[in-house]
This record gives sequence, structure tokens and C-alpha cells, in this order.
Amino acid sequence: MTKQITEKLQQKLFSNSIIFLKDGIERLVNDDNGEEDFIEPDLLILTCTSFQISIELAIKALIVEKSGIRSIIHNKQKNLTDNEIEKLFFENRIKTKEFDTLKNFVKSQNFIEELTKDEFRIIDEFQNYRNKIVHFTYFFPEGEFYDKKEDLLYYMIHILFKILLSTNSQDMKPSEFIEYTIGGDLHKKLIKYTPYINSMKRLAEQYSDKIFKCIVCGNRTYSQEEEYCYCCNFNGEHFTPIDCDYCKEKGSVIYDNLNIELNNNEMKGLCLNCDNDGIIFQCPKCGFAYNIETKIGDYCTNEKCMNE
Ligand SMILES: [Zn+2]
Ligand SMILES: [Zn+2]
Ligand SMILES: [Zn+2]
Repeated sequence: MTKQITEKLQQKLFSNSIIFLKDGIERLVNDDNGEEDFIEPDLLILTCTSFQISIELAIKALIVEKSGIRSIIHNKQKNLTDNEIEKLFFENRIKTKEFDTLKNFVKSQNFIEELTKDEFRIIDEFQNYRNKIVHFTYFFPEGEFYDKKEDLLYYMIHILFKILLSTNSQDMKPSEFIEYTIGGDLHKKLIKYTPYINSMKRLAEQYSDKIFKCIVCGNRTYSQEEEYCYCCNFNGEHFTPIDCDYCKEKGSVIYDNLNIELNNNEMKGLCLNCDNDGIIFQCPKCGFAYNIETKIGDYCTNEKCMNE
């Protein structure tokens, strides 16, 4: 099989996976109330199914990329020539292996290192819902309608995205993947969807000891360590944060340190932890910055630098 054809098929599987993922997200953000409560049973069934179809296609795309087209096709057709396989594909007559076999192959080959045993077990659960829904019905116990919104988002962010991001070795954070690959409009809706914000907050907590409120989207999803907001993708690395005199947090007050010189070395600053603001002075000589409303004592001024 030529590299070109393999890539074409892999891309097709990937883009089909995105179609179902988008469909699931769209339905969720448009039809759900966005609160942490009960999810309508119809919506749950449809979203589970969309996400599961998306994952099945994503796994195939990943296998084709890592180990070639023959790894996903049925044994009966495996020994055909490249030309015959290609022909069958374009005639829609190719038979692929069962999802379970493909999933176990990904697991045994360790194609996605970050996917844990527990997460593979969750894939089995969703596979079970999907099969039952498609072939008959799945009875979700009453109480489950309350936890399922969270489960759906976990499935999307921690499992489906890991598979999709492993194909084409994309080094992106989940929210970047949504904004740049899935679409800006859906991303805008998701960053206002409470279950999504909560999931992103938990994800940010995994990577940073301190989580602050983001100055752009207003969600508490800003990772201090990475200087990055897990919800809206705001990047704060150009700011030099200082400590807060109100809540005593370290490196939580940000101000426009790049333009401060144009403003007589004074700018409004905001604490991303406690929301208090103040006027920040940044010494033009030594760069030391402080809140002039709260610091008492001798500090640098425009006239005199204390570190000179
Ligand atoms: Zn943000
Ligand atoms: Zn503060
Ligand atoms: Zn100074």
C-alpha cells in the first residue's frame, strides 16, 4: 500500500471520527441546561453513541498510522494485494475487525502510553452502552442520570482526546484541540458549559498546585505553573506576576508589565486568587514591582531606586 493511500485512509478515518465527536458535543451544549444535574435520557443515549462511534474510528485511524492498513482489516481480506485492498476500499467492500480486537491491539502495542487500565475499562463500559443501545436498549439505572454528564466529559477529555491526539502525534492540550481542530464556535460554547469547566478545573489541578481565576474567561482554570488557562487557552507567560498583599498568595497578581513604562511605570494589577486589585509600580531601574496601595515603607519610586 503506498504511503499516500495509507495517509489518505487514515485522514478519512480521523475526520469521520471528528464528525461524530462534534455531533456529540454540539448536542450536549445545545440541548443540555449546563448545570450539574440530571441529563435527559434521550440526550444521554445519543451522546454516548456519538462519542463511542467517534472512539471506534479514532482507534482505527491510530492503528492505520502506527501499523498499516492490514492491521484493521478482517483476516479473510488480509492476504489480498495492495491494489485489491485499495479497490475494495473505494467500493465500500472492506471488512474491518471487531472493535474489541482493535482495542486490545492498541492496548498490547502500547500505542497510547498515557491511557491507563482503568480508562480501558471505561472504554469497555461505553462499548457496552453503545452495543446495547444499537441492538436493543440499555437501561441506565435512575441514579446514573445524575453522574453521567460528568462521565461523558471524562470520556471525551481523558480518553477520546488522548486517542485523537496520539494520531498524527499532536502535542496539544484538550482545549487547544477543541479550538483549533474541532472549531472555535463549539469551543466558545463549551467554555460556558459548567460540566466542561469543572472537568477542565480538575485537569488543571493535575498539572499545577495552584489554580487561579483566568482574567480572560473568568473560570478558575488557570494553571499557575504552566501560566495557561485550561478553558480558554489564555497564555499568561508574558506577564511577570507579583505576590498579593491581600491574600498573601505568591505570584498571583498580574499587571501589564510590558506597557507599564509608557504609563509612568504604574498600571492597574489584579490578583487572580482573591480578585483584589491595586495600582502596581514597577521600578524603571531595578524592575522591582509592588502595589502602592498596600506596601508601607521605603520602596523604589521614579525618583529613587532602593537597589541602586
Ligand atoms: Zn480562561
Ligand atoms: Zn490576592
Ligand atoms: Zn528599583
